[in-house]
Amino acid sequence: MEDCIFCKIIKKEIPSKIVYEDEEVIAFNDINPATPIHILVVPKKHIETLLEVTQEDNTLISHIYQTINKIAKENGFAENGFRIIANCGKDSGQEVMHIHFHILAGKKLGDKIVD
Ligand code: 5GP
Ligand code: ZN
Repeated sequence: MEDCIFCKIIKKEIPSKIVYEDEEVIAFNDINPATPIHILVVPKKHIETLLEVTQEDNTLISHIYQTINKIAKENGFAENGFRIIANCGKDSGQEVMHIHFHILAGKKLGDKIVD
């Protein structure tokens, strides 16, 4: 946890462009955006991969999806649409071992979800 980049962003030890924050989650711009709008929604609880999500996290996961909706509406891309990606494990290319949800928006996305 001490070495987790996202925990450091949560603790403001690493700067980020914060889009939204409350007690449970933080959302900030991806440092290397894949689309014109690329926001990461991250729970403040350190959970390494989606495989570690349990029933205890039901409220948290629901809150994340409601946060995504709020961000989409407040940032003007709800109507045009967006894509959510959450990587899990090595075949997905998960780089940061703290669960996060990518919001990709701001352009017409490709028909293929993966290459
Ligand atoms: P993953 O591949 O784990 O699903 O995605 C990790 C994402 O975190 C990548 O898109 C990467 O650009 C982003 N990222 C990695 N380090 C930082 C950082 O220090 N700040 C921000 N804002 N994004 C980061
Ligand atoms: Zn962490």
